[in-house]
Amino acid sequence: MVLQEQSVGQVMDGKALAASVRETLKQEVDMLLAAGKRRPGLAVVLVGDDKASALYVKNKTQSCKKVGIESFMHTFPAATDMETLLNCITTLNESEAVDGILVQLPLPAHLSSEEVLSVLDPNKDVDGLTIESMGRLFAGKTGLRPCTPVGVMALLEQYNVEVEGKHAVVIGRSNLVGKPIAMLLMQKNATVTMCHSRTKDLDQICQNADILVVAAGKREFVKGSWVKPGACVIDVGIHHTHGPAGESVISGDVQYVDAAKVARFITPVPGGVGPMTVAMLLANTIVAYERRTGIK
Ligand code: NAD
Repeated sequence: MVLQEQSVGQVMDGKALAASVRETLKQEVDMLLAAGKRRPGLAVVLVGDDKASALYVKNKTQSCKKVGIESFMHTFPAATDMETLLNCITTLNESEAVDGILVQLPLPAHLSSEEVLSVLDPNKDVDGLTIESMGRLFAGKTGLRPCTPVGVMALLEQYNVEVEGKHAVVIGRSNLVGKPIAMLLMQKNATVTMCHSRTKDLDQICQNADILVVAAGKREFVKGSWVKPGACVIDVGIHHTHGPAGESVISGDVQYVDAAKVARFITPVPGGVGPMTVAMLLANTIVAYERRTGIK
C-alpha cells in the first residue's frame, strides 16, 4: 500500500524553478541599477561553428537579457590559434565590466580547454571549471560552483528532498557534472557512491539509491527496474534525436516512463535539469559581481 502511494512520481519542474530564480535575479539587478550601480556583465566566448554550442550560447545570452545582465559575445572562427584565444581571456580578466567569463566547450580539437581555463580568473569562473574553483569545492571553501550541479541541488531543495544520511548514487564522473554533484551531495551529508563506465553491477547499486543522479551521456540508459521505489531520480542527460515522422525529440539518460512509475520524484527531459543550468549561470554571474564589487 505504501509502495503504491509512493509510485506516483512527482515531476520536478526545472523550467518553473528556473523562471522563479530568474525573477529573483531580475529584482536584484533592478535594485543594483536603482542604487546607481553598473549592470553585471557576462562574457561568452564561442570558437568554431558547432551548431549545438551556438544554440546553447544563444539561449544563455537571451537569458542574460531577461534578467538585465549585460552579455558580451566573443565569437572566433574554428581556425583561431591559442594565442588569440588566450589574449581574449586575459583582456576579459582585466575588464571592469565583465564579472563572469564563460568559454563554451568543447573547443575545436587543436585548442586545449585546460590551457584556456588555466588563465581564466577564478573570480570570474562562472562555470566553476578552473582548478582553483574545483579545489575550493573539494575543500568546502567559498567559490563559484559548476552550474549543472548547483542546479541539481536547488531542485532537491525546492522539492524538500531529504539528503542528509541518504544514499546518493551518481552515475558519471566528469569534472563538469558527476564529480561536483558528488561533492555537493556529500557536503549535504549524503552517503555518496560514484559510478562510471567500469562500475560492475550498476543496476544493483542503483536499486539501493535514495537519490539517483544520472549523467552518463547515454540515452535512456537507466531502466525503470533499476530505480528503488520511492527514490528521487535526477536525469542530467540530454539527447537530440528524431521521431518516426522526423520530428525533433529530446530525451535523457533515464527511461522516463518506467522510472516515473516507481520514483517519488523525477526530473523530466526537457524541462528538468537543463533550464536550471542556465539559471545557475546567471546566479553565478551575480554572485561574482557581488564578490568583485564587495557587496558580499
Ligand atoms: P561525459 O561524457 O564527460 O561523462 C560521462 C560519464 O558517464 C563518464 O564519467 C563515464 O564514466 C560515465 N559513463 C559512461 N558510460 C557509462 C556506463 N555504461 N556506465 C556507467 N557510467 C558510464 O559527459 P558529461 O559532460 O558529464 O555529461 C553527461 C550527460 O549530461 C550528457 O548527456 C550531457 O549532454 C548532459 N549534460 C546536461 C547538462 C544540462 O544542463 N542538463 C549539462 C551538462 C551535461
